[in-house]
Amino acid sequence: MEIAKGKRSIPFMYRLLIGFGMLLLLWIGISALNIVTLHATVEANQRLLASQHRITLASNYLHAAFDALASQRGYLLTSERKFLSLFRSSVAEFTELHHQLSALVRNNPEQKAHLEEASNLIQQWVYDVARVNIDVRSRLPVMAVPNMLRVETTLLTLENAYYSGERERAPPQLLRVIENELQLVLNMDIHPELKRPVERAHEAFTRFTAAVANGASPAADEALRRLHVAVNEAIGTFVRAEDQIRANVNLQGSDHLVSRFNAAMTEFVEGEQRLLEENWEETRARAARVTLLIRLGPAVGLLVMLLITAWITHRLGKSMKSLIHAANELARGNLKARANVSGRDELGVLAERFNVMADLIGSRSRESAAFAELGELLQSCNSIDEATRVFASMSAKMLPDHAGVLYLISPSRDDISAVSEWNEGSRYSDAFFAPHQCWSLRLGRTHDNIEGRTMACEHLIDKRKPSVCLPLHAFGETIGLLFVVYLNGITDSEQSIQDQHHDFLESVSEQLALALANLKLRETLRNQSIRDPLTGLYNRRYLDESIRRELHRAERHGHPVSVLAFDIDHFKNFNDTHGHDGGDALLRAVGHHLDEFFRAEDGAYRAGGEEFVAVLAGTSLEDALARAEELRRTVAELEVAHENLVLPPVTISVGVATFPEHGTTPEQLFKAADQALYRAKRGGRNQVRHAGEPQE
Ligand code: GH3
Ligand code: MG
Ligand code: MG
Repeated sequence: MEIAKGKRSIPFMYRLLIGFGMLLLLWIGISALNIVTLHATVEANQRLLASQHRITLASNYLHAAFDALASQRGYLLTSERKFLSLFRSSVAEFTELHHQLSALVRNNPEQKAHLEEASNLIQQWVYDVARVNIDVRSRLPVMAVPNMLRVETTLLTLENAYYSGERERAPPQLLRVIENELQLVLNMDIHPELKRPVERAHEAFTRFTAAVANGASPAADEALRRLHVAVNEAIGTFVRAEDQIRANVNLQGSDHLVSRFNAAMTEFVEGEQRLLEENWEETRARAARVTLLIRLGPAVGLLVMLLITAWITHRLGKSMKSLIHAANELARGNLKARANVSGRDELGVLAERFNVMADLIGSRSRESAAFAELGELLQSCNSIDEATRVFASMSAKMLPDHAGVLYLISPSRDDISAVSEWNEGSRYSDAFFAPHQCWSLRLGRTHDNIEGRTMACEHLIDKRKPSVCLPLHAFGETIGLLFVVYLNGITDSEQSIQDQHHDFLESVSEQLALALANLKLRETLRNQSIRDPLTGLYNRRYLDESIRRELHRAERHGHPVSVLAFDIDHFKNFNDTHGHDGGDALLRAVGHHLDEFFRAEDGAYRAGGEEFVAVLAGTSLEDALARAEELRRTVAELEVAHENLVLPPVTISVGVATFPEHGTTPEQLFKAADQALYRAKRGGRNQVRHAGEPQE
């Protein structure tokens, strides 16, 4: 009963766990991918925002630069301080913005280069152009020139009035205007060098007004002339300075720098816009991927889960259905029912074990049926010979995985010989051996032959195959041996054969022994009833039985049967001469000779005393006469020893009758043969006569 020990695959429970583990991993993977993608999207968005921020900053930077430019211009044109402070705050602002932008583009060399170029250009402009212009303007306020021009105009009117005769009475309103305008200019924040002519003008004016008040004339004239010169000088100085400023404001270099700055910044902004677009594209692609994952992820997970569930349901359902079906069939008595073994997990193993169990039940049931049949057949056997043949053919059916030999012990009990075998059992054990060569016969009990574990019997030919010897005991006597080989080996070397079949084999051997012993007993009894104990020949009763059977058969097949009746001549005398024992010895010798002389299908019978009968089936009268003559001759040649003496030879007289010519019933044939014998006696004995001879 071998259980296949195939390679076990991954257990069902582990498969389930692996399945769900894979599902879990899938979910984790999808979630992780979602998180990573979302993270990347957020990063892309941040880059987008940073790009926008840089563009905004760049735009502010440009504005600040242009504010600086405009405020510088404004200051130069108006001298108003608000423009100066606007210029300063703009410069401070774009310096600050430059720092911010530099920090933001530090990882982008191209943009950084653009920014640095723009910054250098604006710095160059601030230091080389704007600050110089502002410095110049700060020396001369814009209103200084008009004020001085008004002084000049008013002075011309005053001079007209003064030189036309009204010297003593300089028009006071003109004096007030000059005084006010000069005072205004003096109060202005003008560079000391530029201011000096104005101061000289004011001095001359003061002297002029004092001289006019004293009515003086040459002094007043002189003062007026000086005033005129100083005013002209101041205006000349102012106009020259003003021309220089205007020239600076319209300086070519300034415009060139600004346009280059503008170009650098435009490239910077364009670079940022390109980055912005790239980031935007990437963000959009990422968002699309996230959307796809969010939509597909749960669907894929659900699909995998459905597949796993379907697989479990299918596997469990199929295996259980097959098992339950097989169990039901088995319960109903269908011993061929088996479960489908699919896979090598627990369910597969369960089905396999179930099938092993079903095999076991099947084989046990076959064994019991065969055992019952064996009992029945053995019961109806007529001879030991027949019984041994029946047993061999039943064993081949009952024990197909085994081979075996049946041995019988000789009447002398000196040797044991094989009488039948199945599955070529004689390949594993000698056909003939002495009883002491078998452990089971020595010990009087079942003996296992397992290499390396038990003593091996001497009669084994192949000691590697496990086998068992079962002595056949009945009525307190050992009559033979049953030798059984396990052709497929035994499953586990730790187990003894006892687990493998002993009970069954012992039952078989007991039944066989009992049947054989019964048959032996029956044969003995039968022999006693049909055999003559002295000669060993069949007796008269069996002769009557046999002749009837032979005649019946001869009638049916139409062949002849001859009967020989013969009697030892002068046996009374022989008895008298050699004693009754000597007579018995002679009778035994004649019986033995007859047994050998007649063929197996013919029979020799002791009809009584020293009279014998032989029935020759299928033998004509002519052949029978020849046989009778030969018998007569051979009996006469018999040499019989008795008590160290050779007894003298004896002769026989023979009468022959043949069916159907001399009779058709046993009585008619015996009578005809007896009459022929009688004629032989009368004819002088030691001769053969037959019933067909003419009566004397
Ligand atoms: P014949 O030639 O006419 O046959 O002469 P016979 O002496 O043989 O005559 P008969 O048939 O009368 O004698 C038979 C003798 O055989 C008688 C008996 O003593 C003897 N006899 C019969 N049965 C046995 C037996 O079992 N053993 C012995 N030793 N003698 C027997
Ligand atoms: Mg006689
Ligand atoms: Mg006689």
